[in-house]
Amino acid sequence: MVFRPAAIRRSGREWYGKGTRKGPVDFAFTAEQQAWRKEVRDWLRQELPADWQGSNVLEEGDDATEWQSMLDFRRRAARKGWIAVGWPKEYGGQGRNVIDQAIFGEETTYSGAPGMNSNIGVLFAGPVIQVYGTPEQKREHMPRITSGEAVWCQGFSEPGAGSDLASLQTRAVEDGDDYVVNGSKIWTSFAHRADWCILGTRTDPAAPKHKGITFFLLDMKTPGITIRPLLNMANAHSCYQVFFDNVRIPKRNVLGEVNRGWYVMATTLDFERSGIAGSAGARRGLERLIDYAKGVKFNGRTLGSDPRIAARLAEFQIEINVARMLSYRVAWMQSKGLIPNAEASESKLFASEMGQRMANFGTQLMGLHSQLDKGSLRAVYEGSAGRSYMLSVPGTIAGGSSEIQRNIIASRGLGLPRG
Ligand SMILES: Cc1cc2nc3c(=O)[nH]c(=O)nc-3n(C[C@H](O)[C@H](O)[C@H](O)COP(=O)(O)OP(=O)(O)OC[C@H]3O[C@@H](n4cnc5c(N)ncnc54)[C@H](O)[C@@H]3O)c2cc1C
Repeated sequence: MVFRPAAIRRSGREWYGKGTRKGPVDFAFTAEQQAWRKEVRDWLRQELPADWQGSNVLEEGDDATEWQSMLDFRRRAARKGWIAVGWPKEYGGQGRNVIDQAIFGEETTYSGAPGMNSNIGVLFAGPVIQVYGTPEQKREHMPRITSGEAVWCQGFSEPGAGSDLASLQTRAVEDGDDYVVNGSKIWTSFAHRADWCILGTRTDPAAPKHKGITFFLLDMKTPGITIRPLLNMANAHSCYQVFFDNVRIPKRNVLGEVNRGWYVMATTLDFERSGIAGSAGARRGLERLIDYAKGVKFNGRTLGSDPRIAARLAEFQIEINVARMLSYRVAWMQSKGLIPNAEASESKLFASEMGQRMANFGTQLMGLHSQLDKGSLRAVYEGSAGRSYMLSVPGTIAGGSSEIQRNIIASRGLGLPRG
């Protein structure tokens, strides 16, 4: 008899989603899904220059011209109703399913289409408004996300509350028809460009920490908001610190219930950790490494003829396929109305760490050339290898660090006791 501890027996259901343990797994896309993928590809081919190298999500916010061309691209997608194809038609979507939206995300990320996989409005602000919003909130915000008009940011982390998000201290105090907010948020991506912010605040400091939080939709033009840039190690400033000095938010902008905002934040994080961008972006990166290994010679032989390099590239190909399957599993669960939690953490953890391993290998493969930035005579692929490495480090921290994802997988996925 094989010994199977109870926790592992229990977790069997978690791994595959309830009611899905029997029968073969069908990995094939339907004819409609394949036709949709082709339609997206054809459109991207038409919209992007033939030699397009892609935009870098974490740097997009820096340069005003790049930002404007990113917004223009987003609006071109919006005119086709394609920004959020999975959303209902009444809000500017196409009423397609989650898998179709994942296919769109995969193709746009792979092609390096500007601003598509960094759109907080589509990726998690809009989805959480769909779950918790009043009809008025949905009517006000959803169409402005799908039209490409409104840019959103996420005000969750604070100087003393990142992994332990429920410790947040930014205070919101009731005053007439408003709440008055004081405090500070940190690492707020795109804060300087955002029109709206999803904001976590403390409304009941006497309650246990998970129970005194309220979630707001904040207009970033409200008086009393100061935004300061934070430089990352690639010398870009996509993250900001945001200060609130008596910022008034109307009560109608509470999302969900007062003092139950923790649950709204947790749902937001599940959406944030889903997504196909990791594997699709890595596929593009791997193609560059293969191209480089085939074209560059060392001691009379191409780099790719070295079995150690060839084997490493093959391993990355396998990892990318695994990351892709983990993402589609999350999308599939969502398409069945299931709520991925540990599954979203697995996907985020695997893809972000794989991205870092691959970027690290890229710098080794290209040696000192990888350190040359775009504009340098001998820079390769416009200096993308070195920059990718520097930008892959925050990827394992943003949206919850790798340690936190492992904790979630261990406790909620495997049923292990919390440490
Ligand atoms: C590029 C980037 C963009 C970001 N964008 C946003 C944004 O738009 N909005 C927003 O609100 N936040 C954003 N963040 C913040 C991000 O969510 C936090 O940085 C992250 O949650 C970690 O929190 P922290 O930085 O406070 O680190 P800490 O929580 O202080 O963690 C420090 C270290 O301790 C480890 N650690 C902490 N607790 C545990 C534990 N229980 N078990 C094991 N290890 C633990 C962590 O893994 C980490 O290695 C962004 C971060 C980055 C890097």
